[in-house]
Amino acid sequence: MRIGLRVDVDTFRGTRYGVPNLCKLFADFNITASFFFSVGPDNMGRHLWRLFRPKFLKKMLRSRATKLYGWDILLRGVLWPGPNIGEKLGHIIRATADAGHEIGFHSWDHYAWQVGIDKMGNDAIQKSLKRGVALLTRILNRPPSCSAVPAWKCNDQVLKEKAKFSFTYNSDCRGESIFFPIVEGETLSQPQIPVTLPTYDEVIGCNGISDHNYNDYILSLLQPKGLNVLAIHAEVEGIACLKMFEQFLREAQSKGAKFIPLGGFLTDSLRFERSVIIPKTIAGREGWVSCQAAVQ
Ligand SMILES: [Zn+2]
Repeated sequence: MRIGLRVDVDTFRGTRYGVPNLCKLFADFNITASFFFSVGPDNMGRHLWRLFRPKFLKKMLRSRATKLYGWDILLRGVLWPGPNIGEKLGHIIRATADAGHEIGFHSWDHYAWQVGIDKMGNDAIQKSLKRGVALLTRILNRPPSCSAVPAWKCNDQVLKEKAKFSFTYNSDCRGESIFFPIVEGETLSQPQIPVTLPTYDEVIGCNGISDHNYNDYILSLLQPKGLNVLAIHAEVEGIACLKMFEQFLREAQSKGAKFIPLGGFLTDSLRFERSVIIPKTIAGREGWVSCQAAVQ
């Protein structure tokens, strides 16, 4: 059984501490994964505070957000402009590539994308993608080979703008199988590799799931014959939940699972189906999330 392993890196702190932690862990377990980097300003603190509504407060308490993210993330960009991650921590991104991991583009400004995508037109989307890809290209000395939107916030406009880049695939939604997206009747050539499993913050504290049984829960969701794609966060599994995640890797490998970068699934491209991407709400996450859906 193969598990596509995707690491989302949303913040300065996640890049600085979580990424090196995960690189070391992956080296110990002989794993290569896909890392999706946010490279522009880190304003994620604004995102987290903005969500201080009763429902989100409950989630913050449920997932113990200060433990998960740290106070520096919660304050980042709130009182002063956030630091530019790529300018300051490019060496960490390069070291991740040098360690053999697949490097993808996540965002220019994670916060701005998450809260603004509904109002962004083609030009704003293109500008945001271009700015981030340009900086990541400068850091890597080559363009990133793939991309994944922040917070699974994708729409048809985003798909059309992404088609102008040289991404071999994108991972912008939740779903069950690899597919070519259809936009306005046209099949795009960049396949989508959806995330199939829930993230830590979505399920922790719900339905009796705690740190004691979280790993078992995720292991129980794996599909021996289907597509398995797990998204972890440099800020969470790379820092606060590092020990627990190490145990997860050990248990999964002992059950015969092999972790691969998402691009490793692309060899079988003839079998990909065609689907559309639609917004849906999912348990444990605020607002809408892009999901794979059957063509009507
Ligand atoms: Zn993210």
